[in-house]
Amino acid sequence: MIETILQKEQLSHADLCTLLATKDRRDMDALFAAAYQTKLKYVGNKVYYRGLIEFSNVCTKDCYYCGIRSSNTNVLSFNMSEDEIVEAAIWTWKNRYGSVTLQSGEREDADFTDFVERLILRINEETNNELGITLCIGEQEREVYERWFAAGSHRYLLRIETTNPELFAKIHPQDGNHNFERRLACIKTLQEVGFQVGTGVMIGLPGQTIEDLANDIMFFKAHNIDMIGMGPYIVSSDTPMGQEVLAAGGNSAKAKRERFLLGLKMVAVTRLYLKDVNIAATTALQALNPVGREKGLQAGANILMPIVTTEGYRENYQLYDEKPCVEDTADECKDCLAARVTSVGDEIGFGERGDSPHFFDR
Ligand code: SAM
Ligand code: SF4
Repeated sequence: MIETILQKEQLSHADLCTLLATKDRRDMDALFAAAYQTKLKYVGNKVYYRGLIEFSNVCTKDCYYCGIRSSNTNVLSFNMSEDEIVEAAIWTWKNRYGSVTLQSGEREDADFTDFVERLILRINEETNNELGITLCIGEQEREVYERWFAAGSHRYLLRIETTNPELFAKIHPQDGNHNFERRLACIKTLQEVGFQVGTGVMIGLPGQTIEDLANDIMFFKAHNIDMIGMGPYIVSSDTPMGQEVLAAGGNSAKAKRERFLLGLKMVAVTRLYLKDVNIAATTALQALNPVGREKGLQAGANILMPIVTTEGYRENYQLYDEKPCVEDTADECKDCLAARVTSVGDEIGFGERGDSPHFFDR
């Protein structure tokens, strides 16, 4: 049955569910092979790097799943200095990564939003405007997005986390600070402001169904999303969700393997359904499998986000347990990833921004 679905031009919701639900090894291999061919046809075999600078773990939010949530007192707070962040961006540029991603916890105070604006201006100045700048800094007012765009950042990643509003409400405290409607409105605002917009979901959340995941993929298309950054949910034992999953025995080797495979299937089905978007093989895939990111590339992903956060800070940006690359330096990450990319037959788009083709066609 899966072969018939893979030959279709238009996939229905039922088709997406069948593909996501398959557990047969040969069917999964056929799915990944078809997604890889779609990637070659629409975006080619070049893999683009976004050097990831996790510049602050201070967050005003308290998402139940995240290791740097505001209530987690086991984490040492840090803010990289302006010079340290700019230095990491310059390293990224000199090593011919086409882009940098600035990621942090969420803050909306003026000190913070002004700091980010200055950072964008300085990074552009010091790198001759040659580095693509992606932001992943959460929900903000339109005026802030406008200022950051005017300063010279051009992509924004804001995961919707799940497109099921009831599930969204279950995984975020209902304190007025966590709001599905606002997150959705921010995605629309970012598009209106002119950003290339990325979103994504966590895969394998407690209570999430295959139908939810198929809806998530349809949401990406319906909302004209340019970039997808999604990965398996991974337990952080310092969080309420992590503790619940551990208590229910939901973090066995078998459960982790299932979440990993579901993550790969989501990449593949998203590639088949959306075709010309950029899709990241995220660090979370590697956290569950040592060759997770290579498998992600083989399932249709074309973006990698090597961590370039200054050593010494990395161990305090633990969104979840067993996060890989925490002990490595940026140089070690670079060498390790290059070997991983070529091992699957892809090549690295060094020095190229690698914008999402979808953005220019929408
Ligand atoms: N604070 C910003 C936000 O939430 O959009 C950006 C940084 S936040 C750490 C980036 C992403 O990390 C979130 O969108 C979420 O999907 C992911 N994340 C957090 N905890 C996770 C976990 N336990 N497993 C997998 N992904 C997680
Ligand atoms: Fe903060 Fe983002 Fe983590 Fe939520 S997912 S607690 S907003 S860093």
